[in-house]
Amino acid sequence: MEPKEARERMVSGLRSSGHVRSQRVADAMLAVPRHLFLPPEMQEQAYSDTPLHIGQGQTISAPHMVAIMAEELDLRPGHTVLEVGTGSGYHAAVMAELVRPRGKVYTIERLPYLAEMARRNLEATGYAEEVMVTEGDGTKGLPEHAPYDRISVAAAAPRVPQPLKDQLSDGGKMLVPVGSSWYQDLVRVTRKGGRFQVENLGGCVFVPLIGEHGHKS
Ligand code: SAM
Repeated sequence: MEPKEARERMVSGLRSSGHVRSQRVADAMLAVPRHLFLPPEMQEQAYSDTPLHIGQGQTISAPHMVAIMAEELDLRPGHTVLEVGTGSGYHAAVMAELVRPRGKVYTIERLPYLAEMARRNLEATGYAEEVMVTEGDGTKGLPEHAPYDRISVAAAAPRVPQPLKDQLSDGGKMLVPVGSSWYQDLVRVTRKGGRFQVENLGGCVFVPLIGEHGHKS
């Protein structure tokens, strides 16, 4: 099957399962060629709804999780976004579609090999101008580009990292999986002035967020 057709099937399945609810998220996921973010040996499985290995013991999140996060984060044109956990760069590209025009996605990855791979993937698929990849410990955020309208954390934290709360704009929203290294709740934090409203959106499983304000190893 051609990648475009496989992508249409994937999005249609995600609509039926209720993970994709809006036309905007459907269009974003239809636009981004997920197979081009994967190592060649994984590309055949690119449009099945499952996480896949991308090297260095890490995974690209399952499409339904990318859809849930895109819907729940309510990304809008012009938003400045921080993603923690770049991995392949796929999720950042989906968010770049949703903040067009004038939006920007900053994404940070702790493993240099993956940061470099994501840069190449984003360049090859035409997202390099809208998505900036930085190498480092994303539990500390990326203060030089703060504040962020939206923050998306793609790895599991033991608690919401304080620097990420501090870097959220007034009215800004963050999604972060919080819990142990084997099971977490997807938490949405909304900033209202100096106060933070916290909602639990349900169970999920992510690889650990490792760093100063995350897991230690
Ligand atoms: N969003 C990615 C994609 O579209 O492929 C998938 C992210 S993967 C589930 C989680 C990523 O978080 C891994 O690449 C891992 O190396 C990274 N990570 C873990 N701790 C981190 C930290 N403190 N700062 C930045 N990245 C981190």
